[in-house]
Amino acid sequence: MNDTNNTPAVAAVCAALAAPPFALRSGEKPRAHQAARQAIGQRCPTCGDRLTASSARWARIVPLVHLPPLGIGDTDRIVLCTGCVARRGAGDLLVLRPPAELLERRAALLHQAQHHLTSRLSRAAILRVLDARIAHPRTALVAAHDAATGDVVLGWSALSGDPDTLAGFLVRLRFQSGARAVHASDSMSVWRLPSSVSLSAMWMLIEHGALIRCVGTQPPAIDDDWRACWPLRVDSIARQLDRRDPETGWAIGAPGPVLSVMPDSIRRRDAKRAASAARDRAASVTDARQRAASSDPLVRFAAMGDLLDLGVLPGAVGANA
Ligand SMILES: [Zn+2]
Repeated sequence: MNDTNNTPAVAAVCAALAAPPFALRSGEKPRAHQAARQAIGQRCPTCGDRLTASSARWARIVPLVHLPPLGIGDTDRIVLCTGCVARRGAGDLLVLRPPAELLERRAALLHQAQHHLTSRLSRAAILRVLDARIAHPRTALVAAHDAATGDVVLGWSALSGDPDTLAGFLVRLRFQSGARAVHASDSMSVWRLPSSVSLSAMWMLIEHGALIRCVGTQPPAIDDDWRACWPLRVDSIARQLDRRDPETGWAIGAPGPVLSVMPDSIRRRDAKRAASAARDRAASVTDARQRAASSDPLVRFAAMGDLLDLGVLPGAVGANA
């Protein structure tokens, strides 16, 4: 094993993947629930088979690893047959091609779940982005920043999602992003992403349904560091939107960790904001200079104050009509 396979970031990712919920504790098995007994005689909602005392199994619409506990409670419970439970494995319910009613319940749960933020301006627009993501099977991944190299170490366990989706991620990371395998076994797969491609590679996975949890060192308080891509809930996004002035749409107070859909648009957004601020300042300076040339001494005095506030020396105006 070479040195870069043995860094604190690799250790942090492997430790997270070896702990619940990415690895169930020994002896902990999905358990039959009272609800399963009550469903005996009904049809399995995904395959239509009649549920019996031996085949009815309590299950979650969204696996816990995909949906960190949010106080959602019993609305996440369904009863499936043992065959469907086995076919689904650790994967998203989408693997079983569920009927529309279950898809709606899944979407409602995931709308309340954690997501990587977008900077869209309306709740409806945010939900459209999230709906595009949750059309893919949800997966839960773990990542850490490697301080020594600037790389990102990213991994998943056998409980992170369905094997087909995770195999698709493997191909994309390996052949599109140039990721290097650090650790591969039946129980976990860990990759090293070069810093130049790490953010775009992770956003590609996010757009394909991945929820990436950051482990290891704390993220710095800057927006475009990948570790600022914190998973927040839709209600957190709504709270963020509520901090806008309803009249002007401007943010009230300090901006929170709102991110864009893609890293490139973070940069475009920042450039746009800087350009807009520069335009506003130039317009204010022009206006104050015109007022500083007024024949009214009170107007001139106020304009001098404005120019000082804008960091322009009133002496430089040199225009007293
Ligand atoms: Zn079934």
